[in-house]
Amino acid sequence: MVRPVAAFDRLGDENAFAVLARAAELSAGGRDVINLGIGQPDFATPEHVVEAAVKALRDGKHGYTEPTGLPALREAVAAHIAHRIGVTIPADRVMIVPGGKVTMFAAIMMFGEPGAEILYPDPGFPIYRSMIEFTGALAVPVPIREENAFAFAADEVLSLITPRTRLIVLNSPANPTAGVTPRGEVNRLVAGLLDHPSVAVLSDEIYDRMVYDDVEHVSLLSYPEIRNRLILLNGWSKTYAMTGWRLGWSVWPTVLTERFRRFAVNSWSCVNTATQYAGIAALEGPQTAVEEMVSAFDKRRQVTVDLLNKLPGVSSVLPKGAFYTFPNITRTGWAAKELASALLERAGVAVIGGPDFGELGEGYLRVSYANSEENIRTGLERVGEFLTTHRLPVR
Ligand code: PLP
Repeated sequence: MVRPVAAFDRLGDENAFAVLARAAELSAGGRDVINLGIGQPDFATPEHVVEAAVKALRDGKHGYTEPTGLPALREAVAAHIAHRIGVTIPADRVMIVPGGKVTMFAAIMMFGEPGAEILYPDPGFPIYRSMIEFTGALAVPVPIREENAFAFAADEVLSLITPRTRLIVLNSPANPTAGVTPRGEVNRLVAGLLDHPSVAVLSDEIYDRMVYDDVEHVSLLSYPEIRNRLILLNGWSKTYAMTGWRLGWSVWPTVLTERFRRFAVNSWSCVNTATQYAGIAALEGPQTAVEEMVSAFDKRRQVTVDLLNKLPGVSSVLPKGAFYTFPNITRTGWAAKELASALLERAGVAVIGGPDFGELGEGYLRVSYANSEENIRTGLERVGEFLTTHRLPVR
């Protein structure tokens, strides 16, 4: 018998991939399935970005690049940060990675070990907890509450810090709740962190361009007082509809960059070279595709929430970011994962059960509006019919 280390038995999963696979399987078998479980834009990567990758391949860019990314791409990210956040970051602190997820992998590996504690949002992106437990560290959930519009509560985060806390994972705009943490709350959090100088912060800002109404995205990078312990996670996947390209960027404190470089050398060597050229084109080219996508999401967001709020037993706050809603389904009487499974198998609508994002996700579903308005309407109509004909006593 082979004997893999126990850490691998502690790895969690991302059930959205399993739902995607099951929805595809049902569709392949002839079922009409509407996918509102999806965690990626339903738009194509902009044409000029695709062309840049094709050109790179035709120009013979077939070899390795620097493990931390093409210098021109790191410069482009630094210029993008200066433009969008108004902060000057030397390009040697920018790291190019094969997808945003790799930054969380590296950051959590760098701070997690038995005896350490790492704070993460619950409900939140499931990989945070999975990776924390993989390292042997204690995963400490920070409750993300509907009554707080799914924003972080600074006092609650700070109250969970102990002498063993090594890292805090933050995510705004958030998956799955679509909460956006307002500036006042971020200010309070940063001020409180000054009392805990040895605690690092991983700020996952991958949905930074997807905010609606008058809401602003506040980047943790705009706070110089914590910049020497902040790891910023971002990337191309959501903003430029590039989930399958596997391309992300992060900003690391100077004290960690050499460790990060060695981690890259020891694992992925470098990101696919043609993809990196596409990344330059995305940042430096026209941004109209991003603007059009975000305004389409905005319109669908309103439609989705209006329809959800008409369903029996369902209520949804108006989400302020990303492309998800996180409706409360407690008054339907259904447990969230059972409802999600019944909707997929019996009503042909894929959504994700809230508990797939943490224990505090019970009572909620994640509904994505990265689908056409027509599909959203048909999908939610089906959910309405199902809930009307399958009422359960409210627990
Ligand atoms: N962070 C959050 C909050 C996400 O929702 C996702 C993807 O769903 C990622 C990171 C990972 O992005 P990528 O596909 O670039 O690895």
